[in-house]
Amino acid sequence: MISLDPKTVLFMTTLMSVAMAIVMYSAHANFGKEVKGLDRWAMGLLALVGGGVTFMLRDYLPQTPLLLATNFLLFAGLGLSMIGTQEFFGRPPAWRVYWGIVAAGFALVAWFFVVRPDFAARLTVVSAFVFYFYAEQARLVWRYGTSHFSTRFFGTLITIQALVVLVRFGMALRAMVSHIDLIRDNTVTSIYMGIGNFMALMLTVAFMTMATRRLQTILEQRSTHDPLTGVLNRRGFALFYEYQRLQMRRAGKPMTLMEIDIDHFKAVNDRFGHMVGDKVLAHVARAVRETLRETDDVARFGGEEFIVLLPDSDERNAMLAAERIRDALRRFADIQLPMVTVSIGIGCHASDEESLDALLARTDAALYRAKQNGRDRVELAT
Ligand code: GH3
Ligand code: MG
Ligand code: MG
Repeated sequence: MISLDPKTVLFMTTLMSVAMAIVMYSAHANFGKEVKGLDRWAMGLLALVGGGVTFMLRDYLPQTPLLLATNFLLFAGLGLSMIGTQEFFGRPPAWRVYWGIVAAGFALVAWFFVVRPDFAARLTVVSAFVFYFYAEQARLVWRYGTSHFSTRFFGTLITIQALVVLVRFGMALRAMVSHIDLIRDNTVTSIYMGIGNFMALMLTVAFMTMATRRLQTILEQRSTHDPLTGVLNRRGFALFYEYQRLQMRRAGKPMTLMEIDIDHFKAVNDRFGHMVGDKVLAHVARAVRETLRETDDVARFGGEEFIVLLPDSDERNAMLAAERIRDALRRFADIQLPMVTVSIGIGCHASDEESLDALLARTDAALYRAKQNGRDRVELAT
């Protein structure tokens, strides 16, 4: 039988929490811009560590200020993890609620300690507010989280934690109302503190797992997408093309490419500046994407040229899609941005043997003809 002294457990979790806070801070330093909330969690953990330390010191120093400090740090620390989780999910951090709870919680605990000493009442107050911090996070995860293991891991832990605190609240409330004297054994409190800190540590690990998963998704997205317009880049297009080619070949269906080039784009840059030029590019990309079907996709290989891949489409379908794009750009009347037209070349895979490069060359020739014939028009590859 392993026997663990509650104080030793508390001491160990405190040490581990310091280590974990360092991990969180370095993660924040490395990818804090991409993944929000890590710094709040690290700070929250340090506050809990502070709470553990003040709690352990109360055998040696005046009890009242230390107990008050412990409770303050507990509220402040757990509240910070709520703020962190809110930021992680892109929600506005509820600082008012945070400071409201920290202040009210601290005041009530002080009241039931100094003015009208009541252990059950203190426990009721603490567990009520702590429950709120956990429950709010549980709500956020289940509402905004992805359906990935890391999310479910964090979500499950925080829900369990919220329920445990809720049960504790119920017991404390009953004791308070019916004046039952709860066991105020130092050991029991130490065990609770130990378990609480351990759970806080586990939750931190779970949050970190969620954060690294988020980072992975962001990096994957970056390696396949163009940052300016958000459409596929060359690499993303190659992956999409390979997959679709295989599918269409197997199903014996046609596949068509569309090459779109903005007309006189250099003039837009010259007249309005590069910044406006960039906005026009992003706008055209959006307009193209919005007119396409779910199964189609757009890529920008650089410059002011877009490649659209239309699986399960022949030249006639592509012609219609091209007209829809030109229509969308004509209907666009944003006084903030100059109007542009596009020239489009369309090419359909002639045979199973034709390579992407060969098709691109034919589509490019069609686009060139569209330019030659006066721009703002569509031409089919031969
Ligand atoms: P055309 O009708 O023949 O296509 O004329 P054009 O001016 O659009 O063609 P050209 O290829 O001569 O010029 C393309 C211009 O696109 C030149 C370059 O300054 C601009 N451009 C390329 N990439 C970007 C970009 O990322 N941002 C901005 N703002 N401009 C870009
Ligand atoms: Mg152009
Ligand atoms: Mg061009």
